[in-house]
Amino acid sequence: MLDIQNLNVVFGSGRLGVVAVKNLRFEVKQGEAYGVVGESGSGKSTGLRAICGLAPITSGRVFVDGRQVTTPRDKAFYRTVQMVFQDPYASLHPRHTVDRTLSEPLAIHGKRDEGRVLQALKEVGLSPSFRFRFPHQLSGGQRQRIAIARALILRPKVLLLDEPTSALDASVQAEILNLLDDLRQRLGLTYILVSHDLAVVAHLCERLVVMRHGEVVEETSSTALRLGKASNEYTQSLIKASQGFTREPTVFAPARRPR
Ligand code: ADP
Ligand code: MG
Repeated sequence: MLDIQNLNVVFGSGRLGVVAVKNLRFEVKQGEAYGVVGESGSGKSTGLRAICGLAPITSGRVFVDGRQVTTPRDKAFYRTVQMVFQDPYASLHPRHTVDRTLSEPLAIHGKRDEGRVLQALKEVGLSPSFRFRFPHQLSGGQRQRIAIARALILRPKVLLLDEPTSALDASVQAEILNLLDDLRQRLGLTYILVSHDLAVVAHLCERLVVMRHGEVVEETSSTALRLGKASNEYTQSLIKASQGFTREPTVFAPARRPR
């Protein structure tokens, strides 16, 4: 579904140039959730933004569903690929109702449909009563549900998720991750999930790349990491940093009674 080939993104030029992404390459199968993990500033967001046309591609090629993307991306691209951002407070227009937020993509693509708005609310676990609310009348988790509903409204095949739960409390974070996992399975979606938190990526993705300073350090799997098979030192440090990283429960032998 996605084929990223030697993607490079350079901001500025000459001595002041910043190589934000260097030779990023991976393939994502249809229906797969693929993770990109790395500390802040490692180039994760820039890589994702370059795929969807929000950052310039300096060199390299991006294929979606077998077709190379064009610059600028065309309407068909945004019917196939949608993005969800970290901060649901910034990504929703404060003076637009949920109804308007969800109707706009339909209108732009000439597909106005009231039933579709209600269906989208239902898909993200919100009742029809949310339809005429404003963002300030929603919790952080509810806002992110609306941002996800907006991304899904045109029935895309691919979601690019940039730290979709990083602005949320831990319990809400788990709810949103479970919702995303459920939606992927029900709708057959393909994801790229970017996060600085290995636990978040491991929750949703089987395969993943670890990035540092714009480069891929290693491609690995959640299973390999759970089994303690991180070959790279940097990946090991991310595992340590990620406190919630789920391991197989350790079975402790009962303490022996002193004789
Ligand atoms: P991450 O998402 O992993 O935290 P980013 O992709 O946001 O990392 O940033 C990677 C690098 O690119 C950083 O050094 C950042 O300062 C730089 N960068 C990102 N966007 C721009 C931009 N628009 N102009 C110049 N440099 C940028
Ligand atoms: Mg980022």
